[in-house]
Amino acid sequence: MTKRTRWVIGNWKMNGSLAANAALLEAISAAQSPTASAVAVAVCAPFPYLTQMQRALSATAVRYGGQDVSQHASGAYTGQVSTGMLSEFGASLALVGHSERRQYNRETNDEVAAKAAALVAAGLTAVICVGETLAERESGNAEKVVSAQLGPCADVIRSGAGKVVVAYEPVWAIGTGKTATAGEAQAMHAFIRNQMTRLGADATGISVLYGGSVKSGNAAELFAQPDIDGGLIGGAALIASEFLAIVLAAQ
Ligand code: PEP
Repeated sequence: MTKRTRWVIGNWKMNGSLAANAALLEAISAAQSPTASAVAVAVCAPFPYLTQMQRALSATAVRYGGQDVSQHASGAYTGQVSTGMLSEFGASLALVGHSERRQYNRETNDEVAAKAAALVAAGLTAVICVGETLAERESGNAEKVVSAQLGPCADVIRSGAGKVVVAYEPVWAIGTGKTATAGEAQAMHAFIRNQMTRLGADATGISVLYGGSVKSGNAAELFAQPDIDGGLIGGAALIASEFLAIVLAAQ
C-alpha cells in the first residue's frame, strides 16, 4: 500500500495580528524538526501576513500558504491574489473551496476547480475542501454533494499525490464544536478515495484530511482511521499548545 503524507494544516481564517502571529509562528516552528518530521505541518494565514510567514517560516520545516487564490494570472480582478504572488512569498499551498467561501462568496464547483488547476500549474499544492451541509446529510445527499464537488476537479486530482490534497469538512462540523464521529468521517473518506479512483486518479497516494472541530481531545481517534491522513484545523490552530498536540496525534 502506498504510504501517504500525513498533514496538519492550520486555517487561521480572518484572525491574527502581527504580535499574536509572531508568538504562534515561533511556538509552532520551534516544535518542528527540520529533518525528522513525519507530518507535513502548514499554516494558512490571511494574505497580509505572507511576509511575516515568509520571515518566520522559510528556514523551518513548517509550510505556509493562502486560504484562497485567484484562478486568474493577473489583470482587472480587484481584491484577488494570484498563484504567482503566493509563490513570490515562498508559499507552497493554498486552500480552495473552503465552505465559508462557497457560502459567503458563492464560489461554484467549477470556480473551485479552476483555482485548484491554477495552483497545480504554478507548482503549488491545492488543498481542495469539500463537504456537505447538515440539510444535505439529513436528506441522504452527502455523497452526491461531495461527488459533485470533486467532479470538476478531475484533471487536477489526476495530477496526483503531492500536487493535490483533499480536505473533507462537513459544514455542520466547522466551528460548531460538533465533530463527525470517527466512523462517519472514515466512511466519507473511503468514499472520496473511491471517487478519485473513478475519476481516473491514482488515489492510493493522495492525502485526504478531515476538518471540523478537530481538537487535541478527538484528533487521535480521527487520525487512526485508515483513510484519514491528518486534519485541516480552524479554531484550534490559533492556540499553539492545541495545534501542536494535534500535530503530535498525527505522527
Ligand atoms: C476550518 O475552518 O477549516 C475548520 C475546520 O474550522 P474548525 O476546526 O474551527 O471547525
